[in-house]
Amino acid sequence: RSRRKRSRRELLKTHFGFDSFRPNQEEIIESVLAGEHTLAIMPTGGGKSLCFQLPALALEGTAIVISPLIALMKDQVDALNANGIMASYYNSSQPSEAQEEVLNNLMIGQLQLLYVAPESLWNLTNYFQKTEISLIAVDEAHCISAWGHDFRPAYTQLSRLQDEFPQTPIIALTATADRATQDDIMKQLRIENGKRFVSSFDRPNLYMEVRPGQQRIQQVLQFLKDKENQSGIIYCLSRKSTEKVAEKLVAKGYKAKAYHAGIEAEERSRIQEDFVNDRIPIIVATIAFGMGIDKSNVRWVIHYNMPKNIEGYYQEIGRSGRDGLPAHGLMFYSFADVVQLRKFATGTATEAFQLAKLERMQQFAEALSCRRKALLNYFGEHVIQDCGNCDICKMPPKYFDGTVIAQKICSA
Ligand code: ADP
Ligand code: MG
Repeated sequence: RSRRKRSRRELLKTHFGFDSFRPNQEEIIESVLAGEHTLAIMPTGGGKSLCFQLPALALEGTAIVISPLIALMKDQVDALNANGIMASYYNSSQPSEAQEEVLNNLMIGQLQLLYVAPESLWNLTNYFQKTEISLIAVDEAHCISAWGHDFRPAYTQLSRLQDEFPQTPIIALTATADRATQDDIMKQLRIENGKRFVSSFDRPNLYMEVRPGQQRIQQVLQFLKDKENQSGIIYCLSRKSTEKVAEKLVAKGYKAKAYHAGIEAEERSRIQEDFVNDRIPIIVATIAFGMGIDKSNVRWVIHYNMPKNIEGYYQEIGRSGRDGLPAHGLMFYSFADVVQLRKFATGTATEAFQLAKLERMQQFAEALSCRRKALLNYFGEHVIQDCGNCDICKMPPKYFDGTVIAQKICSA
């Protein structure tokens, strides 16, 4: 057994170039290699990919990796190939010759990992039946749950995995799932009997602050005064407001750009690249911006409006301070935001879930206790101590002291 352990470290070193595992990686890898179904909850950047990539190398056969975004697939496959690992992806946007080549390689056992979009998966079951499948990884697994914040219908079909691959270990991974979403993921994938690993979500270098949303633009300008040349993201609720806010910043001499799904794809990737390469420091965006962007020196994130749920909020502020240096998450909150968000949720198929999540978000914004404690507890981590690095800890609100008045009344 100790020899096998050593060989895992060797795989880590020779294929990935790392000397040690990150927290929970080794335990998760052991679980997968033991043939257990596994749920891994780990913050963004925590190193989830390795938890299925390394077992894929250690086991015979091909690992199927289900991933929701073609861009994410391509990045991971490129990185694996650069490390000499035989990996490909398959999706509907590929030319058919490329698809055929991938399937050929699969059939002759030349693939250690195959990334597949959930929509394409069921077209390939015939091929999978003729090959050895080592494991199935469901990345961004929160997409399967209506309780999650990024529900995708194609993911619901994944409950059929157990019928197609009854002998194959499934590992589901995500960065953002509260306890109810975790349970729901396991239920839907039918892996309730599996192991669950929840890594700490704490990002101690992130300062969290919530402010009333009056005169936001003035507050933003004030906030930016001592942040010259720092990179940051401002999230707005609507496309229109991203443009309005960006315009106002540009008028004050800031290099800021609006980013939303209505902008042409080519222009969008140009903006993204300019941001990553420090040519544009400030992006004013809808939540369309950020997924899959690997930029370590984002110093602040502003929520111009209250986000619609805590998962999104934490994911978005988590895009700052990835280098471990201090970063600032500032959120504006007003009742008008709540009204607007309620309107968005009303009439949708998942209205009740969304309204429940919105209410938790509002409670978070209005709370007068340590922000980090509230957040970590929300994600199922038991925390008792105040963090000392949020607005509430740094500037305790002055409570209205009813006891003094009561004493005065009684003694009168
Ligand atoms: P996640 O999917 O959890 O957001 P990734 O799997 O993309 O995170 O990993 C984030 C970064 O951490 C990648 O650059 C990856 O190479 C790196 N990483 C992962 N595991 C380790 C490790 N054990 N040691 C050092 N770096 C690691
Ligand atoms: Mg990932």
